[in-house]
Amino acid sequence: MRALLAVDSAERSQLHAALLQRGWRVSSAGTAVEALELYGAAPYPLVIVSHELPDSNGLALCRAIRGSAPGRSAYLVIIHPTAVPERVRAMAEAGIDDFVATPVAPSVLAMRLALAEYRLADHPGALDGDDRLGLNPERIVKLEHALRVREASLEELFQSAPEGIVVVTEDDRVGRMNDEFARMFGYMPQEALGRTVDELIVPLEQRSEAREVMRRAINGERVMVETVRRHRDGRLIEVSLLATPIRVGNGAVGAYGIYRDITERKAQERALAESEARYRARSAELEEAMQARSKLYTTMNHELRTPISAIMLYQELLLSGVMGGLAPEQTRALEDSHIAAQQLLELVNDILDLSKIEAGKIGLRPEPVQVGRVLTDLLATVLPLAHRFGSDVRLEIAEELPPLMTDPQRLRQILLNLASNAAKFGQGHPIVLRCRVVDEEMVIEVQDQGIGIADDELTRIFDDFVQVGTLQHGGTGLGLAISKRLATLLHGRLEVESALGEGSLFRLVLPARLGTTLGAAEAAMVN
Ligand code: ADP
Repeated sequence: MRALLAVDSAERSQLHAALLQRGWRVSSAGTAVEALELYGAAPYPLVIVSHELPDSNGLALCRAIRGSAPGRSAYLVIIHPTAVPERVRAMAEAGIDDFVATPVAPSVLAMRLALAEYRLADHPGALDGDDRLGLNPERIVKLEHALRVREASLEELFQSAPEGIVVVTEDDRVGRMNDEFARMFGYMPQEALGRTVDELIVPLEQRSEAREVMRRAINGERVMVETVRRHRDGRLIEVSLLATPIRVGNGAVGAYGIYRDITERKAQERALAESEARYRARSAELEEAMQARSKLYTTMNHELRTPISAIMLYQELLLSGVMGGLAPEQTRALEDSHIAAQQLLELVNDILDLSKIEAGKIGLRPEPVQVGRVLTDLLATVLPLAHRFGSDVRLEIAEELPPLMTDPQRLRQILLNLASNAAKFGQGHPIVLRCRVVDEEMVIEVQDQGIGIADDELTRIFDDFVQVGTLQHGGTGLGLAISKRLATLLHGRLEVESALGEGSLFRLVLPARLGTTLGAAEAAMVN
C-alpha cells in the first residue's frame, strides 16, 4: 500500500524506515503544498504529517485532505510533541485518526502503524461512520485521561520502588532510572541518561558477565544474578540483579535492570561462615583437649594410684610391726606420712571420678536398693570418724520404704561424702541420717548442727575445688561437686539448707517409684 509522508523534522527518516520495513511504498513531501499536490494526483490510504511544516501546520493540511473528495477515506496520523486535551480535540475536529507523540518511541510507532494497517486493510469498514477515532473527541479525552492516570501510577511505582531500577535500551544505554538507582550508584539522571550501563556501573572484570546478562534479557529471558557493581565514587557494591525484557508484541525493545544492594547480607553470610569455621576449629581443639585429658587420666590412674597404694602398703606393714619394732617417733612420723598418702590417694580418686563423669564415662549399675540398709551400713562406716570429731550419729528411717531402682555404689558414694562432711564440720553435735518418701520422691537427709555455711557461699560449695569457711580438715573441695553430678546422673538432685553457726542439712532427692528411675539404657553404659 502507498503512504504519504508529509514530515519535515527529525522524525522523517525514522518514519520512512519504519514504513518501508512494514512493506509500505512511501512518497515524501517537505511542505503542505507539495503534499496536497501529491495527494491530488493519486490519493494515499495513509497520510502521516508533522504538526509543523514550513508553509503550514499539520492540522490545516489534514483538514484540507479530509475536505477533498478522496480524502474522506484516508487514514490520517499526526506527529506532535504533546497531546494536551485541547490539542486532541482540535485534532479530532480536523478529522485526524491517530497521533504519535515525539520523540517517537520505536515501540509506539510500530503499534500505531499496526493499528493503521488493521483499520485500513483488514477492516476498511471501521473507517466509516462514527467509529473513526478522530470523530469522537470526548472519547479521546477520556482515553487520554485514563492513560495519564495509568502512567502516573506506574511512574509512582517506578520511582518509589526500594530497588534501583534502570531501563536499558537495545543498545545498552540508560533510557530511564529511578531515584533509588541514582542513590545506589551516585549518578544524577541527567548525567547518566544516554550513557551505557557498562561505563556507569560495571567494573572491568564484570563487563562480559554484564553484557551476557543484558543480551539474554533483550532476547526475552529473565536473568537473576548476584554480582558486583561500582558506585560513582569507585566503591564496589554487592548487588542482586534481575534483568527482565521490556516486550512490545512479541519482541523485546529493551530491558529492565533491577538492583538490590546486598552488601550487608553478604557481609553477614561471610561472618557466619567465618564463625562456623572458627566453631569447627574450636571443636577440633576441644576434641584434642578431651583426648589429651583422657590420656592424662589414664596416666594418673596407673602412674599415681599404683605407687601411692604401694607406699601405703609398706607404711601399713611397717606400722603393723611385722618388719620389726619402731621407736615412738618413727611410728608417729610414719603415721603422719600414711595420712598424707591417704589424702593424696583421695585426691587422685576424686579427680578421676570427676573426669569420668565429665566425659560421660561413668557406668551405672541400677538394681533394686533398700535405702534403709544403705544408711545402716553407712552408719557403721562413718561412726568412727564422727566419734573422732566428738559427734554421735542417729538414724531416722521411715517404715515400709519402697525399694529404690538405682545404682547402690553411687548412692553410697554421695551419702558417704555428705556424712563425712557432717562428721568433720559437726563440731561434736549430734548428726542425723534421715530417710522418707515425700510425694513419690525418696528424700534422704544428712543433718548436722555444726559450723554451718554462710548464705553467700551456699552456691559455691558445689563448684570444683571449692572449700569455704576457715575450718578445714583436709579434703579436696571436690566431694560436693562429684556428689551433685552423681545425683543428676541418678535422675535426682542435691540440695542444701544451712545457716552459719547453726549447722547444715544436705538433702538428696531421688524418684521413688521402683522402675521409674534408672533403666536398661543406663545399665548398658557400664564401662
Ligand atoms: P571437701 O573435700 O573439702 O570436704 P566438699 O566438696 O565435700 O569438699 O565440700 C566443700 C566445702 O563445703 C567444704 O570444704 C566445706 O567448707 C563446706 N562444707 C561441706 N559440707 C559442710 C557441712 N556439713 N558443714 C559446713 N561446711 C560444709
